[in-house]
Amino acid sequence: MSAAPSVSFPLTLVRRPQSRRIRATVNHEGVRISAPSSCSDREIDAFCRRYQSELEAAWARASSASQTIDYTLGAAIPYLDQTLTIHLSQAATLRGCIAAQGDTLCVVTPLKYRGDLRSLILDWYHSEAQHHLHQRVLHYAAQMGLTFGHVRIKEQRTRWGSCSSQGNLNFNWKLITMPRHVVDYVVVHELAHLVHLDHSARFWKLVQQFAPQWQQAERYLKQFRVVF
Ligand SMILES: [Zn+2]
Repeated sequence: MSAAPSVSFPLTLVRRPQSRRIRATVNHEGVRISAPSSCSDREIDAFCRRYQSELEAAWARASSASQTIDYTLGAAIPYLDQTLTIHLSQAATLRGCIAAQGDTLCVVTPLKYRGDLRSLILDWYHSEAQHHLHQRVLHYAAQMGLTFGHVRIKEQRTRWGSCSSQGNLNFNWKLITMPRHVVDYVVVHELAHLVHLDHSARFWKLVQQFAPQWQQAERYLKQFRVVF
């Protein structure tokens, strides 16, 4: 196994006997390089380095196009590292119930359901965010040897998290739709503010220690354009 080229976009490499030269295709999932079977890793690496800035720019364009969540039956919605397919149960209960089971989001509607699947799912996202973020804060606070006040989940337009001078932490519920490594980075970022109130070198050193993926996560957050 050879080391993958060090690039900042997701990269898939395929080798094809019939290819005559190295080609790159770019979509919102990343960059796909197809190369002749005879091509060495070094040649592929050199290709990626030569076109790195163009490939990065193309990927940024492809991945920043906004995505609108579809709340209809059978549609797929993002949840941490997964995508869940919405499934509506035949049954109904007084309060209704939503649960993720494998790759499915099972929705049992409340008796007074008026067909608004979106608001049911947004409520579910909110309570999942509450649960998941609380767990991750407890986990990292223990690792970092920190104590905190309250953890609150908020509807925020532009902020992913914040930390008050009383040690209270606020997080955006939309984090629950993002990959786990991104959520963990935001948690570590806010906890690190309990130690350093600025974005100094000492702050980033602490973040790096507990969330070494922070640069990748920052890029993800900058490109996040999901409409809920
Ligand atoms: Zn900050």
